[in-house]
Amino acid sequence: MAIEHVAIIGGGFSGALQAINLLRHEGPRATLIERRAEAARGVAYSAAHPDHLLNVRAGNMSALPQEPNHFARWLQQRHPELADGFAPRLIFGDYLAELLDDAHRAAPERLRILRGEATDVIPDGEGWRICLDDGQVIAADAVILAPGNLPPHIPGGIDVDALPAGCFAPEPWSGDVAEGLGPEDTVLVIGSGLTMIDIALLLDARGFQGRIVAISRRGLSPRAHEAVAPSTLDMRPPTTAVQLLRHVRSRSRDVGWRAAVDELRPYTEGLWTAATLAERHRFLRHLRAWWDVHRHRIAPEVAARIGAMQAAGRLEIVAGKLLEVDAEAPGARVRYRPRGQEEIATLHVRRIINATGPQGDLLRTEEPLLRRMLARGLIRPDPLRIGIDVTQQSEVVDANGEAHPTLLALGPMTRGTFWEIVAVPDIRRQTWAVARKLSNAHWVGGEGL
Ligand SMILES: Cc1cc2nc3c(=O)[nH]c(=O)nc-3n(C[C@H](O)[C@H](O)[C@H](O)COP(=O)(O)OP(=O)(O)OC[C@H]3O[C@@H](n4cnc5c(N)ncnc54)[C@H](O)[C@@H]3O)c2cc1C
Repeated sequence: MAIEHVAIIGGGFSGALQAINLLRHEGPRATLIERRAEAARGVAYSAAHPDHLLNVRAGNMSALPQEPNHFARWLQQRHPELADGFAPRLIFGDYLAELLDDAHRAAPERLRILRGEATDVIPDGEGWRICLDDGQVIAADAVILAPGNLPPHIPGGIDVDALPAGCFAPEPWSGDVAEGLGPEDTVLVIGSGLTMIDIALLLDARGFQGRIVAISRRGLSPRAHEAVAPSTLDMRPPTTAVQLLRHVRSRSRDVGWRAAVDELRPYTEGLWTAATLAERHRFLRHLRAWWDVHRHRIAPEVAARIGAMQAAGRLEIVAGKLLEVDAEAPGARVRYRPRGQEEIATLHVRRIINATGPQGDLLRTEEPLLRRMLARGLIRPDPLRIGIDVTQQSEVVDANGEAHPTLLALGPMTRGTFWEIVAVPDIRRQTWAVARKLSNAHWVGGEGL
């Protein structure tokens, strides 16, 4: 069947880039459906503060795989002072919005950007019908799901309704996390990863002078970037989690841990694909927390600010298990067991911010679209329950295990299949490959293959 019209659900980085790539391939017409006021920026590049920097250098943040310096050149023209380093995420959002806008203006008849929430996808002959929350129904020959991560779960042991109003922030991007706080207050951040870093910077930027305590099981937090020499790895890394750990340790002694982690990048997807399900489980259970903080590093200037907050006693990162959270107006009393200790510690906090990180478990989602598609058997969780099950070609696998050539998914929700599919360099490759597939492209000028 000829694919003439593609509906893309979700207009964040993944969906917007997919639309741009379809146009660049002179592929099918696209309708990009986004429920936010503006498409292209998504979660990462819209809800940021100017202090929130990209955690990848500008030189590796091009949206276009065949033009690796595209973003760096764009920055050079608009913000030359930022061209070599880690630009603010908001500025990357401007870049994406401009790219989408340019694509739209160049071919308005081939790209429609629709504001609304897709609430259902229904098979219709050889194609699909997409239902929107305002009652519109759109027909398409293919559908691409680009919904982004699912919001974080509320950690066990917290009864949000029992807490005073304004005490619990279910996710960091809703509202002003510093509102109503005074210098005597303590804020508890649950989680110590990249989201916690964002929150600490945000509280600092909003002038919060009190104490921030971040808690996670292991108390690990993202490491800082530093210059790394080019890879000298001349072998395929081993495939089991234990061997991989030994390999990274031994390479770290030779080339430093940053290089040892970075040089795995070309192999990660292959290693993940080749690993057995048991091995992937093992990796998630035992190594993921370490992998995340070494692999997803922060800009040196961000690390310096976080370090200064820690040195001043304004930020403390503790390893421990949260046990109980009880209302204690206007905040809460929090009891936790520090890692490796029997004694229980208590905190009196004014606010608790959930920074446990994005989720991907479809069986726990509240999203109407995903729930309906799941109930209809059109999508299913991947075996690790960290996203939507897809093939290596990003085709969605249904409840019967059948792949749909015209129902695809993109971005972080495909991490069960690809693992490394969170950052810009990976998603731009994925959207490019999907555009080629849907456009029947065999060769695109300038691709440089
Ligand atoms: C805080 C943060 C910082 C990051 N920083 C970096 C970085 O510095 N460098 C890097 O390489 N990567 C970074 N990433 C990772 C990466 O860029 C993101 O994961 C990427 O932006 C994912 O884009 P997405 O479009 O898949 O998801 P999202 O950005 O979440 O976009 C999904 C969009 O879909 C919309 N949507 C969902 N469901 C529906 C529906 N039913 N109907 C209509 N619309 C819907 C949502 O409103 C949303 O706008 C960061 C991620 C985060 C969260």
